[in-house]
Parts: sequence; structure tokens; C-alpha cells
Amino acid sequence: MQLTKTQMDLINKQIARLRASDSYYGKLYRDLGIEKIESQEDFEKLPFSSKDDLRNAYPLGIAAVPEEEIVRIHSSSGTTGKPVIIPYTAKDVDDWAIMFARCYATAGITNRDRIQITPGYGLWTAGIGFQAGAEKLGAMAVPMGPGNTEKQLQMMQDLHSTVIAATSSYALLLGEEVQKRGLKDKLSLKKGVIGSERWGEKMRARIKEQLGISLYDIYGLTEIYGPGIGISCDEENGMHYWDDYLYLEIIDPITGKPVPDGEEGEIVLTTLVKEGAPLLRFRTHDLSRIIPGNCPCGCKYPRIDIIKGRSDDMFKIHGVNIFPSQVEDVLKLVKGVSSEYTIALGYDEETNRDVMMVTAEGDYNYSFTDMAQEIRERFKSRIGVTPKVVIVPIGTLPRSEKKTKRVTDYRDR
Ligand code: ZN
Repeated sequence: MQLTKTQMDLINKQIARLRASDSYYGKLYRDLGIEKIESQEDFEKLPFSSKDDLRNAYPLGIAAVPEEEIVRIHSSSGTTGKPVIIPYTAKDVDDWAIMFARCYATAGITNRDRIQITPGYGLWTAGIGFQAGAEKLGAMAVPMGPGNTEKQLQMMQDLHSTVIAATSSYALLLGEEVQKRGLKDKLSLKKGVIGSERWGEKMRARIKEQLGISLYDIYGLTEIYGPGIGISCDEENGMHYWDDYLYLEIIDPITGKPVPDGEEGEIVLTTLVKEGAPLLRFRTHDLSRIIPGNCPCGCKYPRIDIIKGRSDDMFKIHGVNIFPSQVEDVLKLVKGVSSEYTIALGYDEETNRDVMMVTAEGDYNYSFTDMAQEIRERFKSRIGVTPKVVIVPIGTLPRSEKKTKRVTDYRDR
């Protein structure tokens, strides 16, 4: 998707703001002599920004405004190393709430709704994002925070909460409790707004069924405000994102070049109006694609597909780019195999070729040999690469959360 004139003007303002500041990116842009962009091509020459930059700038080196304008910070935990700290101005906090309220509205939530918020409060952006958005919309926030399922269920009944905000795993847990206790008819829940962990169709169907609600995927990351920069609509075909606040590119994670609309790749985000910590071309490592065309729901904001995995899990072997979603699609077809897998890439001296080894989990009721054979064949026919396959008993591989790395590359590059 090409930059509009308005977006380009806003990006030039962001560049000017950075250059005028003493921040990490201000110095970088001055050193590189970047003053403004005049075309798509200019924009695509701008350097990427990354979580590593933000770590290098720890704690507040990223701040592009004077101290007195910063009203809050958030931090993303990060699985390794130093955390990342993002400073917000009053306008940033307000812009985020506006975007979040827009998410609720896109999900058909109104000021008559009561939103029970179960994600955590504190340094990370989840709970407070859901809350500020609810207040901006004029809905009633019920700020529970995580855990204490007993109390969650009580409040849900007493206050007639109509919306549950949760991670998919907590929504599933609540759903199971509701079913176990036969509470479904005593609840007023209609909708669930679910944070952007990766979750499968099976889990979605179970939560819907157990709680009797419609579900909406919300997208976001701490580095770019937090959750609330995009959400799915009733069409359940991708998430709308707010292109008046963000410019979104999809790039090939290996070459760094933008891919045509509709093709899968890594989401790269540019903030258009952020003050505290403007980020240009921030690599999210989330994999998705732009969904071309208008959404039948009538919402004019563009769409991306739901998150398909992490670009750290994308790899190239024998000249073929392989996405985690393709691996998952293959495994889904094989009876007896779970959704968990790991992949190791290595170099075989004997044959002078790269080799790929897939470890998948199999159910004891099926033949491990047959499962391995089927996986090999399906890889060959669908992806064009034949892996070596090892089947291990279900429960052997580590359970993955959103950021777990499934692919290890032992090749010299
Ligand atoms: Zn829509």
C-alpha cells in the first residue's frame, strides 16, 4: 500500500521532531543526513528501527520530547535481555485511547456495555489500554486484572458484564469454569475482545461455545502504543488498522524489501503522530499480509490478516521461503499429529546439501512411521522440500507461547 500525501507529510513532521531532539533516533538521523522524504522510494530507504535499538537506548534514550512532557512510561518485558521502555506524552495517551475506543466501536461495543477487563495492569500496556479505551467510549470498565477466577465469575454475574477482555488462554479457562458450573444462562456476556496471542480455530470455537459470545482479535504491541491499533470486525476476515495513526508495510523478512499487497511477510510499522517515542519503520517480527479490497462490513480502514506467526520462525532452504503457517497447514492434515513442532536446519557434508529436520508430536494410537512418511510426502508436494521427520510422543515438546522460537538454524550463513 502506497503512502498518501497526508501520511508523507506526517512522516516528515516525525523526522523533524526526531532531528530536533537529543534522542537515539535524532542522533542517528542527523548522522545519516536524513532530513525529509519526498517519495515512496525515499521512505523505503529509511533505516528500520528495532527492539535492539530500543534496548540500546534503555532506559529513556528514545524520548523525543523534554522530560516535562512525558506523563507515563510502559515497558515490554522481552524474553531475553534488557527490557524496553516507551515514554508517552499526554497526547500519546489520549491518541491510544481514541484508537482503542475505535476498536470497541468496530466490534459493535457501545457506551451501554460493561467491559470486564482481565489482562494485567502495571508496566505493560494491556489492562490500562483496555480501560482507557472503555472510558473514552463511555462504557463501564470493570477493572479486574488477571486471575482470581472465583471473583471474576461473581462480578460477571453481579454486574452483568456484557464484554470480556482477555487473553485467549484466560478466556478458555473462564469458559471451562462457566461450563463446569452451569453458569452460562446467568451471564449477560455477548462479546469477547481477545489480545493478540496466536490461537487456533479449535480454541476459538470452544470459547465461543462455552461462553456463548462473538470474538474479536485485537492487535498491538507496547513499542507502538499497545493493544488497540487494530481489531477484527463481524466479518471475521482480518483486522482493520488505523492508518491515520500508522503506516503499515509488509516486507520480506529476509531481504527487507516490501512485498506486493496480499502476500505474506513481516509487519513494519511507522507511527505518524507519536510524540514521546516516534518510531519509523519498526520491525514487529509479526507475520501477516494486507488484505486487498474493501471489507463488506463497510469500515473504510484497511485490513491485515490475523497474525500468522513470528518472522524469526520463517526460513529459507533450497531457495524456498517457508513460513510457519505453511508448516502448520501441513501438520494439520496429518491424523494423530499435534500442532506443536520444532524445526532444525543444518548442513549435511556427505550430500553437500542443506537439510531440514521436523520434530512433530504424535498420538500413540497411530503409527509413528506412517505419520513421519505422510509428513515427508505432504511437505514435498505442498512446499517442494522433503524434510527428515522425527515423531515424539504428545507432550514432549515445550508448549509455545506467542514469542517462542520454533526454528533453529545451525547452518553457517
Ligand atoms: Zn470489516
